[in-house]
Amino acid sequence: MRDSVPPEYADALQRELAEALEGEVRFDAGSRALYAYDASVFRQVPIGVVIPRHEQDVLAGLEVCRRHGAPVLGRGCGTALAGQSVNSAVVFDFSKYMHALVHLDPQARQARVQPGLVCDELRDAAEEYQLTFGPDPATHDHATLGGMIGNNACGTHSVMAGKTVDNVDELDVVTYDGVRIRVGRTSDEQLEAIIGQGGRRGAIYAGLKHPATSDDGTTPRADWP
Ligand SMILES: Cc1cc2nc3c(=O)[nH]c(=O)nc-3n(C[C@H](O)[C@H](O)[C@H](O)COP(=O)(O)OP(=O)(O)OC[C@H]3O[C@@H](n4cnc5c(N)ncnc54)[C@H](O)[C@@H]3O)c2cc1C
Repeated sequence: MRDSVPPEYADALQRELAEALEGEVRFDAGSRALYAYDASVFRQVPIGVVIPRHEQDVLAGLEVCRRHGAPVLGRGCGTALAGQSVNSAVVFDFSKYMHALVHLDPQARQARVQPGLVCDELRDAAEEYQLTFGPDPATHDHATLGGMIGNNACGTHSVMAGKTVDNVDELDVVTYDGVRIRVGRTSDEQLEAIIGQGGRRGAIYAGLKHPATSDDGTTPRADWP
């Protein structure tokens, strides 16, 4: 297996991650080989794998990776088809431990989930109240909500129910630089207020309002916040 990072760099990263996390930190060749694959034709050997037990592990793992300048990649069940679940990065696998259905409110027709929950587990729980989660990629018995959000997954019933983006009310997001924000539908007034508050959150929202593009107008610029 070809290494993309010097072993001494990976050793220090692994050691500090293992000290900071309760979850699993796997930098062995076997684990890295397993996570070099997804459902696409692409193969990228990760620097290592983090399997967080809870959100504190996610925050602590990100902090260590940031300090080392190591890239990170979230991962559900790795069924994406275009190579977006593999990278030369520290892969955070949410499917093993962070898969709780936190709360289901049939009256409000809303559920709060951790990112590793599989689509069918949400649908089975909702079905007890004659409800469902509409977007159903063909991989619905494996696909996680985190991966469905990452891919904006659809599926046959999304024709009636909308794609994943149309069925998400709110996200609890942490950025690479450690900013934690709750995002959701935002009115024009709220958008202006958030931008006005400034800071990193304001800069992110300002970037969404006026996305900078390359000269040909097609791709985000590298200095996009
Ligand atoms: C046979 C087959 C049929 C398919 N049919 C469909 C279909 O009908 N409709 C459809 O839309 N798709 C389909 N897909 C694609 C894929 O299965 C879905 O998009 C699925 O929702 C991906 O879920 P996953 O948990 O495997 O995500 P992954 O592949 O693990 O991740 C997908 C993306 O989300 C990101 N991600 C995952 N979790 C997080 C997180 N917690 N935080 C940040 N980013 C995260 C990953 O980095 C990646 O970019 C199909 C795939 C296969 C192999």
